[in-house]
Amino acid sequence: MSIRVAGITKLYGQQKALDNVSFTINTGEITGFLGPNGAGKSTMMKILTGFIPPNEGSAFINDLDILQNGIETRRLTGYLPENNPLYPDMYIREYLLYVARLYKIPAALAKKKVEEMIERTGLLPEHQKKIGALSKGYRQRVGLAQALIHDPEVLILDEPTSGLDPNQIVEIRSLISDLGKKKTVMLSTHIMQEVESICNRVIIINEGRIVEDGAIDKLQSRKETGVETIIVEFSDKVSRTDIEAIQGIIKIHGLKDNQWLIQSQTTSDIRPVLFNLAVKKGITVLSMQKKEKTLEEVFQELTVNKS
Ligand code: ADP
Ligand code: MG
Repeated sequence: MSIRVAGITKLYGQQKALDNVSFTINTGEITGFLGPNGAGKSTMMKILTGFIPPNEGSAFINDLDILQNGIETRRLTGYLPENNPLYPDMYIREYLLYVARLYKIPAALAKKKVEEMIERTGLLPEHQKKIGALSKGYRQRVGLAQALIHDPEVLILDEPTSGLDPNQIVEIRSLISDLGKKKTVMLSTHIMQEVESICNRVIIINEGRIVEDGAIDKLQSRKETGVETIIVEFSDKVSRTDIEAIQGIIKIHGLKDNQWLIQSQTTSDIRPVLFNLAVKKGITVLSMQKKEKTLEEVFQELTVNKS
């Protein structure tokens, strides 16, 4: 099962929400569709699920063009829309049966499927309630249950964990990881950490354009920029000139008292040299730490507004 997008452009009036976007997602991948608010994530997902048409380009689910095979591609796809619109006055079972009917699942099987989904998404403790009476976490489970009821092979989840508390986030993420073992999953998020914890692939979108596409490891390697940052604290005064004399130093910055932020080339490890410097001066190194660039920082660098 695959998702393929070729040269999709979407305009809202004059505004380009998507600008010539192309990518392919293969079976067994959990792909994070990552980008800041307004980047075009929901627009892409609405196109992939046939809710809105693109202005240009095509999208395929399992090599079927969604514009020409709408009924078939919707049957293959489960979709959790942004903000998870549900009917608050319906009971969980009633709603799921209604969704099952929309997919034309035969009555006897539909009942079985509803029970299976309630169990699978952890809805059992609240199964007798109306949707309107559920907490946000449980509503999200109902959203996932309706996306899964027809056993789709492709899952498209628009910000599945937004608005959940930390415990609910952990539970929903683990459910998605589990689903990803058998299905092709694309989920959108603006949280880098979410991508790190459940995805094996990331597509980063910014202002309607793809700015990065690849395995998570590839993004990890972007952290290496040839510059290393170290924060060191000495027990006593050390002069700027002493530090500047060390080989490979790019920039130094006095933080407070005897604390320095030092940037150096990654090719020369300056930590032993800093220790030796302290020894030579008859003082000690109180602390020394490497400041790693986080994936969050990499994401920011890729998506800062350049216009
Ligand atoms: P994301 O989901 O990444 O936050 P969206 O796809 O919702 O981004 O939106 C992309 C851009 O398109 C935004 O600038 C948004 O304001 C605009 N947009 C989205 N939906 C509409 C709409 N129905 N009419 C006009 N502009 C829209
Ligand atoms: Mg959105």
